[in-house]
Amino acid sequence: MSNEMRVKFWGVRGSYPTPGAETVKYGGNTSSVEVQAGDRTIILDAGTGIIPLGRELARTKRAGEILLLFSHLHHDHTQGFPFFVPAYMPNAKLHIYGPDGTHKTMKNVLERNQSSETFPLGLRDMASSKDIQAVRESQVIVWDEEGVRVAESSVGLSDEALVIHIHKSYAHPGGVFIYRITWHGKSVVYATDTEGYVGTDKRLVKFAKGADVLIHDAQYSDEHYWGQLDGLPATQGFGHSTVTMAGEVAASARTGKLVLFHHDPSYTDDMVADMEKKAKRLFTNSVAAYEGLEIVFRDENMSVELQTPAIHGRDVQYVQNG
Ligand SMILES: [Zn+2]
Ligand SMILES: [Zn+2]
Repeated sequence: MSNEMRVKFWGVRGSYPTPGAETVKYGGNTSSVEVQAGDRTIILDAGTGIIPLGRELARTKRAGEILLLFSHLHHDHTQGFPFFVPAYMPNAKLHIYGPDGTHKTMKNVLERNQSSETFPLGLRDMASSKDIQAVRESQVIVWDEEGVRVAESSVGLSDEALVIHIHKSYAHPGGVFIYRITWHGKSVVYATDTEGYVGTDKRLVKFAKGADVLIHDAQYSDEHYWGQLDGLPATQGFGHSTVTMAGEVAASARTGKLVLFHHDPSYTDDMVADMEKKAKRLFTNSVAAYEGLEIVFRDENMSVELQTPAIHGRDVQYVQNG
């Protein structure tokens, strides 16, 4: 089996989708990231980015078994699911894991999103088999020779096992899960919808320590966050980070690459590009996520290649392993 691991960005926007001429470069779909580890497919969140991803999985016959992880159940992370093609394929098996809702189970929330009043097809009308489970921070999600499952610890697993650790952050209204996916010694941390603290989020820094890639919420420019822009109120307490906060976590946790994520829907491509420049000053190995960005880990050493964002980018960034 191939040991190649790929991270591909299909939706990088926060809050709501933003089509239009000013968001073409980075893209307007809401959060969804694909992690391909050998022949295993893991999807982080089901914003509208999961819609083109679903079509691609069906087209390339990779819609057999899929692990979908929800960071939380806010609608910009779930709104693409009713249009996710593999969910309608009878041979597809979906493991859907994430936190419970504040007052309802995760399954209840997904059912409500597709109630007859709000959507023509219910969750049960989707022909795939679905294993929907709320998981806890103390648990680990494992995908090894025995398949996908929730375990109480990662002790004694085989070298082939893909392991996902969970960190529950309270720095977002209702709480959010941050995931660390580890496979063959490479690791990717997905930390969206989280607000930094003065002096850095130390629990997150510990959780993300040494990760090869840190995908971090960077919704706001510092000026916006602190209310220094005309006509825009301060956003402190909204549960999202600034570029500075993201850069501080990456630097303190000594991660490999930092990927700025969950761009504010009101920001144009030029504004996101400015934020990327600022991030690079704080943490050299930074990139602002764009639709089509791919980060690839291979066994052989490869140098990091930064490329200009492109529409539906076919650019690939190679990350040095080890
Ligand atoms: Zn969000
Ligand atoms: Zn949210």
